[in-house]
Amino acid sequence: MNFSANVEKLRPSATIAVSTLARKLAAEGRDIINLSAGEPDFDTPGFISDAAIEGIRGGRTRYTPPAGLPELRAAIAERLSARAGRELSTEGVVVSAGAKQALFNAIFSLFGPGDEVLIAAPYWTTYPDLVTLARARPVEVFGSESRDFKVTPSDLDTAATDATRGLVINTPSNPTGAVYSLAELAEIAAWCRERDVRLLSDEIYGHIHHDEDVVAPGLLDLAAEELGPFVLIDGASKSFAMTGWRIGFSWTEPEVARKLTALQSQTTSNAATPSQMAALAAFSDVADADASRSAMGRAFRRRRDLVVERLRELLPDVPFVRPAGAFYLYFRVDGFFGDGVGDATAWCSSLLEEQGVALVPGAAFGDDRWVRLSFATSDEILEEAFQRISARVGAIR
Ligand code: PLP
Repeated sequence: MNFSANVEKLRPSATIAVSTLARKLAAEGRDIINLSAGEPDFDTPGFISDAAIEGIRGGRTRYTPPAGLPELRAAIAERLSARAGRELSTEGVVVSAGAKQALFNAIFSLFGPGDEVLIAAPYWTTYPDLVTLARARPVEVFGSESRDFKVTPSDLDTAATDATRGLVINTPSNPTGAVYSLAELAEIAAWCRERDVRLLSDEIYGHIHHDEDVVAPGLLDLAAEELGPFVLIDGASKSFAMTGWRIGFSWTEPEVARKLTALQSQTTSNAATPSQMAALAAFSDVADADASRSAMGRAFRRRRDLVVERLRELLPDVPFVRPAGAFYLYFRVDGFFGDGVGDATAWCSSLLEEQGVALVPGAAFGDDRWVRLSFATSDEILEEAFQRISARVGAIR
């Protein structure tokens, strides 16, 4: 079958592929522990679901303007302005069907043939594919392992060319859980500003921050003068356990936001209206939002401590990133290669086959010596998973 040049390099999302296989094996009756999924295991907080149900009953079931319900855009702008300590216009907000669509809109609208887009690596699996869809060139930039892979201006210097138009960063990071400090973000923002490189900052895990009970540092904590052109990406999926509702948003200068809106108006029209009603509650009922996010945050922190402790105890020599945010543990498994297993993809397949544990191989994130374990599940399941992983490792030692 011949497909157009638009999609000839397109691959299905690697992380979704692993969790689909794990679900299939479970449906066939295998005892599978699926630690590959990128979603919280909590139910959406009741006050949010109730708002959607009331919306549906009240007839909020028609199209909305493409950029989102005006009251939702205003609520998001108010939250962003409160965070930044300066006014961020409502016109800059575009509500999308998930942060993924917000990223697609931004990348597709801002980059094209001949452009290079730097992607801080290891990266969330979708970024390079979105850049490729836009027919621009993704350029991976690895930070050093000793700095939990966070990139610095000198890392960026080594990858930049005259064609560099954009940089994508993600903090807290999927897959590493690393969190950029405000000083580190300021250096990156300055590097982009000086070169007129558009900075896309994906802060979807910002509220899942383990080391302090505050949101992780983000672009809006910088002064306006410190920032060049940027697009902030965020949403409701992770921090409000709303992955299936499909609500994300971007904030950027209104002129760009209008183009993102035009693209969306020709592709999906608008994020689902009942989901927007749910998001309106999430972004305007500050007290309930804070209470539910901190309850989930406490659970994630406890699980983070648990997986780090088990890894140190059961796989003592394995390099890993201690996650400061998000709900992933990224560790290196090349020490266990051998016997026909030469990369993390093969290692993960044999782990799934022999022990029924699904992890995501690092090929999805740019380095197939590492794997990602999602700890968005119960303590009991995590304990069992570590027993099985160490049994697999013990068997080949
Ligand atoms: N950005 C990152 C870093 C993610 O890990 C994900 C989902 O896994 C997304 C964006 C997509 O979020 P959404 O479900 O809102 O599209």
